[in-house]
Parts: sequence; C-alpha cells; structure tokens
Amino acid sequence: MDSINLKMASKMTKKNLQIHSENILPIIKRWLYSSRDIFVRELVSNACDALQKLKILKDQGKADLSGSDELKIEIVLNKENKTITFKDNGIGMTLDEVDRYISQIAFSGAEDFVKQYEANQESEAIIGHFGLGFYSSYMVAKKVEINTLSYLPGSLGAFWECDGSSQYELKQSEKKDRGTEITLYLDEEHLEFLEETFFSEVLDRYCRFLPYAIYLDGKRTNEKEPLWIKSASSLSDSDYLDFFRYLYPFEEEPLFWLHLNVDYPFHLKGILYFPRFKRDSDLTKSHIALYCNRVFVADSCKDILPNYLMTLKGVIDSPDIPLNVSRSSLQIDRTVKQLGAHISKKVADSLIQLFKNKKDKFISAWDDISIMLKLGILEDDKFYDRVKEALIFKTLKNEWITFDDYLSRYKETYKNKVFYLRGEEASSHLVDLYREKGIEVLISSSPLDLPLMQTLERKNSGVKFERVDALIHEDLIDRSREKSILDESGVSQSTKLSSLFKNLLGEDDKLEVVATSLAGDKLPGFLVMSEEERRLRDYMATFNNGAFEDKIDSLMQKRTFVINTNNPLVLTVDQLSEKEPELAKAIAKQIFELSLVSQKEMPPKQFNSFIENTTHLLESLSLKILKEEKAR
Ligand code: ADP
Ligand code: MG
Repeated sequence: MDSINLKMASKMTKKNLQIHSENILPIIKRWLYSSRDIFVRELVSNACDALQKLKILKDQGKADLSGSDELKIEIVLNKENKTITFKDNGIGMTLDEVDRYISQIAFSGAEDFVKQYEANQESEAIIGHFGLGFYSSYMVAKKVEINTLSYLPGSLGAFWECDGSSQYELKQSEKKDRGTEITLYLDEEHLEFLEETFFSEVLDRYCRFLPYAIYLDGKRTNEKEPLWIKSASSLSDSDYLDFFRYLYPFEEEPLFWLHLNVDYPFHLKGILYFPRFKRDSDLTKSHIALYCNRVFVADSCKDILPNYLMTLKGVIDSPDIPLNVSRSSLQIDRTVKQLGAHISKKVADSLIQLFKNKKDKFISAWDDISIMLKLGILEDDKFYDRVKEALIFKTLKNEWITFDDYLSRYKETYKNKVFYLRGEEASSHLVDLYREKGIEVLISSSPLDLPLMQTLERKNSGVKFERVDALIHEDLIDRSREKSILDESGVSQSTKLSSLFKNLLGEDDKLEVVATSLAGDKLPGFLVMSEEERRLRDYMATFNNGAFEDKIDSLMQKRTFVINTNNPLVLTVDQLSEKEPELAKAIAKQIFELSLVSQKEMPPKQFNSFIENTTHLLESLSLKILKEEKAR
C-alpha cells in the first residue's frame, strides 16, 4: 500500500482535476455566498469525523495511540499571512486517499452537481450527497493546502494544493505528526475571518457542542456537553433549566420540557422547551435549532415542524435530515414529514401527561400553551384527536372544565348546545342572569376561539356553540311572573309592551321586539342575534378590516330586542306613554341603545348620536324636575 503511494507520489506532480466542467469553484463561490461562514462548520466537522474514525479504530484495537494523545482540533488565525489553519490529529489521509477523497470523489460528485445545477438553476443539490463539504473552503479562500499524515504505521505525508482552478498539485510531504492540517489562503474580501472575535462567534455557533476539544489560537472554545445526547433519566430539572439558560441567556424560564429520543424509523434526539407565551412572539418563526450529529445546521426548524409548534424552543439533532448545499434549508421528503409528525405526537403526549398527572400545573400554564394547542387543533386532525381531552375552558363559575366534560354533562339538558361568552362580556346583567341561574357558560378569551368552535362543531356532530345573547335561554324566563293576563280587548300586557316598544323604536323592519318575564329585574333588555349571522358578520369584518361595515350590516337579517317585563324602567315607559309620549320614546330608545353598548354592538358611527340623545334625555328630565319643584 505504502509503496504504491510512494510510486504514485513520485510520478505525480501536476494533474488535472477529474472534472469535466471547469467551473465548479466559481459556482461554489457564487452559490453558497449567502452563508459563506459554513466553511468553518464543514472543515471542523471533517476534522471531527477524522477524530471519531480514529477513536473507533483505537477501540477496535486497530490503531495504536499513546494515552497522552488528546484528540483535538486546533485552529490558528494568522493575520500576517492571511491564512486560517485547521489542524486535527485524527485518522489522516494517505496520498492515495487524498487523491481519491479530495481530488476525484469530490469532483466526480461535483460533476453531477454541476449537471444538476445547469439543468435547473433553482434546484438545491445536497452537499452531503455530493461530498462538497471540503470545497466550501473556496467560498472564502483563493488557495487551499492540505498537509496530512495517515495513522497507518509507516505512512508518508501527503501535500495537496489547489488555487481554485481545475489544476491541483499532489506530492509527498515531510509531515511527521499524525493528522490533517488544512490551510486556507483567504480572499482579500473575506479577511474578517481573521478577527478572533468574529471567527470565534462563527465557531461557537456551529461547533460548540462537538465532541472533541477545539482550540482557537490556543484557547479551548467548546466546553459544553449537549444535554440532548444524555439519557433523560440521568438528568435533573436543574440540568434542563441550566441548559435552557445556556441556550437562551435572556429568556424567562420555560414552563416544562420534553426530551426526545427516537431510534426508529429515524434517529432523532432533542430537547423541546415550552416557553411562556409572549404577546410579541413571532409565530411564523421557529426557535428550535437544528443539529446534525452535534453540528449546528440552522436556527430554525421551520420546514420540519408543523406551524403550531413554532412557539417551542430548544434543539433537535438528527443525522437523518437531508440537507441541501448550504445545509440551512431542507429537502422536504418523507423522513422530514415523519419527523414532524413524530414530534407533534410527542408534544401532544406530553401535554396529556401533564394534564392527567399535574392538572394544577397544566391549568396555570394554560395561558401560555393554549395558543399552541388551539392552533394544533385547527391545523392537524391527528393532533386534535390526541389532545382533545385536555382542551379546557374557564366557566362563568370561575372553574375549569374540559370541552368533553361539558358535552357529556350537559348534552341532555342543553340539547347539545354549548353556551359561551367572550371574556370581556363577563360582567353584564345578562351574564349575571346566566350566573344566577347556574347555567354553565364557557368563557372564550382568544381570537382563535371562533375558528376553534367551528372545528369543534364539525368534529362533534350536532353540537352547537351559542353565545349567551344568541338566544333567549329557557331558564332565564320566570314563568310565574309572566304578564299574560288579557285586558278587555283581549291583549296581554306583554304583547302591549312589545308593540309599544316596537312603535317607540320607530320603523325598522329588521327589528323584532319581544317582551318577556326575565328571571331578574335589573336587565331592561338585550339584543338577540343569531349565532350564524353574527359569526358571518364577525368573520367578514376581520377580513375586510371594517371597510364594508355598512354592507355587512345590511347582510344581517332580523334581530330581536328582548324587553324585560319585570324591569322597572321598562314599566315606566308604559306608564309614561300616554301623558309623555316624547319622553317615553326617548327612554325606550335609550334602553335599546344601552343594550347595544353593553353588548358591544353599537357601530362606532352611532356613538355621537347616542351621547347626544343621552345628554338630551338627562337634560329634559332634570328640567322637568326643576319645573315641578317650582310649581309646588
Ligand atoms: P464528506 O465529509 O461529506 O465526505 P467532504 O468534502 O467534507 O465530504 O470530505 C471529503 C472526504 O475527505 C471525507 O469523506 C474524508 O474522507 C476526507 N477528509 C476531509 N477532511 C479530512 C480530515 N480533516 N481528515 C481526514 N480525512 C478528511
Ligand atoms: Mg465533510
């Protein structure tokens, strides 16, 4: 073997690269330009591979190392010569191997790469598949030298150099210590890599979790063991929290976490943290860093994880994720999809575990995790099936209930209806009535709830969400006080009241007035609007940004104004209607508009006239009292 090498070495001085296109290096330069610092990752991970191979050989008794021989990577920045040297004491290469692995293999891969690249400028080839990692050094270097000595006993050193053209030089070298030394002669425009702070940032980003010691200009740079490769059972809460602080020094502590460890059908390790939800979190960006065998690849797993997991933080490490040349974007394939699905399942499982075993913690984290959970339900049927038992709502009684419990408990009594109100409406006389009557009402607190309700209705056939003012609930009516006695003309008092109000409120064929004996006296009236119509309107309003408010209003069908025949103010309208028709009308109108305000149904453009009317009404009442006092 070695004698062959020698022979080759003596024969070889200058040779053409085994490549048919002359243009591979310019393409590498141009194509990878956007993330040119990846050469650091590629060269360091090659060195790491070389150390790892040596370690395996040693463990198998096939390589002989002295005990004091620390396996390490050294990087030296030389400002004077404008060079960066990557040095490892790994497996090294024989001259023959340099020729095969660097000159030929890489470039025959490159040939495919160039073909593909030429066929389709957009297509993203895979760096791992084409073995181009080493050549990323040409993104910043005008010339690269390799000086290497194989671990094989009796090997001779090999020296390779190429200035980025299709010519390279390969010859025997005097290298005496085992391993590989790669020197980059930097282009003038990339000299910033010679700045230690700049370089060490890049190095830290990509290589801080690598398993072998890395020294930059003599200083050890990577000391942190990646927590995700350890077994969960050996780790304590404080280990996880410390690691979180290490990854995100400025973040608030996470709520809980999930340690992933998968061996089949793909390899995946990782730790996912459930952070506290921040209003300003960017839900379109993933905060989970992607690693491949402890080498940092990208700080976003955007294309791996379903959108609803974007709020999670942490790390995923998988050697099975196919990467493109820049290794920062992914090839979406079956494995990636499976991976996303698997992680989603694990997240769902951990939520369910928490829900079942630590309900208090689950509930106190609800504000932070509900967005993810609800988005997941909306986006992913499987996720819904897994987490549905943990979907909880706060009720008017200030308790928490799962949606499933609500359904099973009240299916019969409420005839498949689910009553809800929006959080901000929790204090109105109407809501008080629901509360007094002990009707179970869910409080909706998020803009996601409307689509969520639609999904839940679709998934649970027959079930219907009804906002508290979408109907007149049976239990809110006090039959015993119904004003049903007929007068001499055969009309009940409540019918009289409703037609009186209908008259006083003026011509509006879309408004129906109903007089009812409500179970409480405080509420004069409220507007009932069908659930479907309001949803349609709210939906359109969100999408139109309120631009077509008038149009949307005109879409509304009939609305019903319910007046409470037990409310004193309502009754005064009746009493005033003959002697003081104007005042009665003003009060009737006021009652109507007040209910609009309390139900947040008053269109903004009506505010001014409402305030005017109110002022006017108060004024005339005050004047009236003063006048009467004078008359006395
Ligand atoms: P890949 O790492 O995907 O195989 P690279 O272009 O990064 O592709 O490297 C090509 C080959 O060159 C490697 O597979 C390895 O055999 C050899 N090589 C590169 N760097 C080193 C090194 N520091 N020590 C030993 N061999 C190396
Ligand atoms: Mg490589």
